[in-house]
Amino acid sequence: MRKSLVAGNWKMNGDKASIETLMNGLLNGLNSGENSVSESIDILVCPPTVYLSQVADEIAGSGIQSGVQNISQFESGAYTGELSLAMLKDFDCRYAIVGHSERRSLFGETDTQIADKCAAALDAGVTPILCVGESLAQRDAGEALAIVTAQVQVVIERCGIAAFNKAVIAYEPVWAIGAGRTASPEQAQEVHGAIRAVLHDADAEVAAATRILYGGSVGAANAAELFAQRDIDGGLVGGASLKVDDFLAICSAAAAA
Ligand code: PEP
Repeated sequence: MRKSLVAGNWKMNGDKASIETLMNGLLNGLNSGENSVSESIDILVCPPTVYLSQVADEIAGSGIQSGVQNISQFESGAYTGELSLAMLKDFDCRYAIVGHSERRSLFGETDTQIADKCAAALDAGVTPILCVGESLAQRDAGEALAIVTAQVQVVIERCGIAAFNKAVIAYEPVWAIGAGRTASPEQAQEVHGAIRAVLHDADAEVAAATRILYGGSVGAANAAELFAQRDIDGGLVGGASLKVDDFLAICSAAAAA
């Protein structure tokens, strides 16, 4: 039985005051629920890194966990502008989003760098959330499954299948991110099933235990039907994670799935 995970990717949004308001809203909402949603699922927020310390203080003792949106694959040294995993761990960072499509497309991250980042996170005891997904052109060309499974395979080859005992995968079709357009539950399930099959080919037990999140315009209205799919174990949520009511509704949908 896989425990669902709902992760909020705040991207480059928010400031000190708005983050305090958002966190207060989330904490109040989670505490006021009749059934403790935060006990039945894992909830994660990934703020801009400069606010990690503030968020760590606000979530202390709440059961919500914090993560970052990107990491350096290097341990320390002359890497201007980068933050090491050891630094992030000082702020109780448990998870790191790795290989988000915006990092791939806007900042040129390659499959090899992404695999190195996964390895570095695992070495540091931080759970990587490996993002994979196809573009619209690739989907239209019938290449979605091949592209996504190849992205997973690169990390299996670099880190070994046992790495997925600790890693999370997020399937995020690039055409659905921030687009207000989501994969249908059937489209998402097809890809999630293919990802699990690739893991299964390497190790059946690891495949059965690995959490695979869906991301791409998840909202209060579509979360339940997505999370009802057999191989969808929660969501990586962008825009809706900045809205208290929407994020709480998504968490509730995951808890009910
Ligand atoms: C994301 O950026 O990871 C994401 C899923 O964004 P959105 O939910 O806004 O599509």
